[in-house]
Amino acid sequence: MPISPAFPTGTILGYPRIGRRRELKKAVEAFWSGAIDAVAVESVAAELRSATRERLVDLGLGRADSSIPESFSYYDQVLDTIVAVGAIPTRFASLVGADGTIDLAGYFTLARGEGENLPLEMTKWFDSNYHYLVPEIGPETVFSLAGDRIVREFLEAKAAGFLTRPVLVGPVTFLLLSKASDEAPAGFSPLSRLDDLLPVYAALVSRLADAGADWVQLDEPGLVSESIDVPRGDTLAAVASAYGVLGRLSGRPALFVAAPYGSLDDALPVLAGTTVEAIGLDLVRGTLPQAVPGLAAKTLVAGVIDGHNIWRGDLAGAFERAESVRALSDSVTVSTSTSLLHVPHDVLDETSLPVDLASWLAFADQKVGQVATLAFGLAAGRAAIAIPLADAAAALTARLAAPGVRNGSVRARSAALTDADFTRGAYADRLTAQNAALQLPSLPTTTIGSFPQTADIRRARAQFLKGNLPADDYRDLMRAEIGRVVALQEEIGLDVLVHGEPERNDMVQYFAENLDGFAVTENGWVQSYGSRCTRPSILWGDVSRPAPITVDWSVYTQSLTAKPVKGMLTGPVTILAWSFVRDDQPLGETARQVALALRDEIGDLEAAGIKIVQVDEPALRELLPLKEKDHADYLDWSVGSFRLATAGVAEATQIHTHLCYSEFGVVIEAIRNLDADVTSIEAARSRMEVVQQIEAGGFNHGIGAGIYDIHSPRVPSVDELTTLLDTALESIPERQVWVNPDCGLKTRGYEETVQSLHNMLAATRVVRDRRAADLRASLTR
Ligand code: GLN
Ligand code: ZN
Repeated sequence: MPISPAFPTGTILGYPRIGRRRELKKAVEAFWSGAIDAVAVESVAAELRSATRERLVDLGLGRADSSIPESFSYYDQVLDTIVAVGAIPTRFASLVGADGTIDLAGYFTLARGEGENLPLEMTKWFDSNYHYLVPEIGPETVFSLAGDRIVREFLEAKAAGFLTRPVLVGPVTFLLLSKASDEAPAGFSPLSRLDDLLPVYAALVSRLADAGADWVQLDEPGLVSESIDVPRGDTLAAVASAYGVLGRLSGRPALFVAAPYGSLDDALPVLAGTTVEAIGLDLVRGTLPQAVPGLAAKTLVAGVIDGHNIWRGDLAGAFERAESVRALSDSVTVSTSTSLLHVPHDVLDETSLPVDLASWLAFADQKVGQVATLAFGLAAGRAAIAIPLADAAAALTARLAAPGVRNGSVRARSAALTDADFTRGAYADRLTAQNAALQLPSLPTTTIGSFPQTADIRRARAQFLKGNLPADDYRDLMRAEIGRVVALQEEIGLDVLVHGEPERNDMVQYFAENLDGFAVTENGWVQSYGSRCTRPSILWGDVSRPAPITVDWSVYTQSLTAKPVKGMLTGPVTILAWSFVRDDQPLGETARQVALALRDEIGDLEAAGIKIVQVDEPALRELLPLKEKDHADYLDWSVGSFRLATAGVAEATQIHTHLCYSEFGVVIEAIRNLDADVTSIEAARSRMEVVQQIEAGGFNHGIGAGIYDIHSPRVPSVDELTTLLDTALESIPERQVWVNPDCGLKTRGYEETVQSLHNMLAATRVVRDRRAADLRASLTR
């Protein structure tokens, strides 16, 4: 191995790729709809990459020192890897061309499915709100270097005068994130294919070297996570093997292994023992490791600027952390802790944030500037960056003392809470009181809250927001929509009705807009998956509720029907998970404040005659920390905040919750501890597996088995729904079972929704009638 080229003194692990004005999203969606062709999308993408390179140089990264990561993706970096290594599931074999490659349309088909062929599964990327596509690997998977987009992008940059650093998902993480293919035998572990995958990585890395890359970055966040079903020993052996093989390649580029989202722990000595030239440490989530043999010879890439949050933060503290890494190696680089994929582009694109709030923030571009500052400081000494450090410190001091950041009455209320505030009466008593109050049939039917959001609703909301629609007119339009949704639910025969959530743009932002302590951005988009972006609100201060939020809508809805209407709120954990949250106090304290605001809202709903309130916590699983040692604390505050929000109601008031988006295995105990009267859960795709798991743990509260999979436009047949309901009833007593769709209906169209709900009710009647007949038969026997 020749002497490796120096690693740049400052870098970032990755940069947002969707574009400052979501240009990539728009181009990709136009391609999907047939409005533009592949050449046009590719040229938008090339322009974006070019603009990104120029921008990063302006912000202080080097043009020709490998400091700019080549981290573009049309959809997802894991999908890119699937295509690069040729791991195409057999159901998509027809997408592969004669030369073994897949074109752009085929690439998107893997992500989006086609006809009978379901897309690759999607799941969340570590503890972020980004979702990746899950590779399907089996004994039959043939790995080959089938995609060279990363090489072409490197060459594109080179032609424009840049020496960039290609970024790949590392081979160990790639296999850890994979699931066994449909063809694989039971018990098959994708990681067992490592030896077959490595030659393809070797070939790709060599191609990059031939193209002129000095450095290649391999992202291995899989090494920091414990929540993966592979014994740790196997993971560590895989690291040794993978970086042994790649390290021994002749004529290779220097290798930088990044490990964002936490500390490497026992994987660090293993990596240090290989010949990789640089190792990335997440020093925001993780802490400074102990010295281990081999580490002093590496470049250590100190992830001290938080890539996962939007605060300008304590820059001097970050500088000190970077300097402390010098105890481990003479060669230290400043970096972000993770890719900047998780933050919006630029605070300067915000024109309506309060000026002081804006000065507390750092989006991607500001964070690149912070990296450049600290890198300069490491080289030239702290005095050389005294002014920016002082500016950041002044902003932080101002932030901590700013009005609204600490609100005395909110804090006093939170400090005075006692156990009783988190506890409802015995479930048996509640059940009796609720049955008397609600008079529901057996197997009660309901929905999760939202109904399809039509173009008319979106238009009315947008016009109202722009000030072009008077508040009264807006209210009348929404009420008319609610009236239609109520009539529809009565016609279908549902037992517990909802208002349909037409007034909500987003289940978190809606509450953020109505609570004190939050701010909303104009252009603060971040990629959630593929072309889908979200615009998280900023939770910057103590949270309180200036006025009731949902009460008028719910009361109006209840006035239209004799059936019970469910009030609909988003829970504290989900509000935190899908916002950018203040970093100056524990999440648990922030969650309590949100919970108290919701508690007041629930009290007002109850006082106004609403008998059922649902508090959605779809993100409960999502925020679960990656390391097991942190689980107990998280579950304590997350479950506690839900209980605090909901425990103030009378026994006769029924509390529902709704969970979705993830495997629940690890949080089943927590679901029980929420102590909701009814928990509806995403279960259709897993064919009721989670419902059985919950029941197996001795859960005796209501369970809403999601039998209609709303993530697909397919209309499930009555037979199919009956079978799913019967499956649920095999493991759960009828008394506990509720019937509902998997999740809210807002992303669906009306036609399929109405048909599906009709079928859901028909299936319920089939099962109810059969059960009643069985009961009569057993009585007359
Ligand atoms: N009540 C919300 C809705 O129906 C729940 C959405 C969710 O779980 N993500 O839209
Ligand atoms: Zn849901």
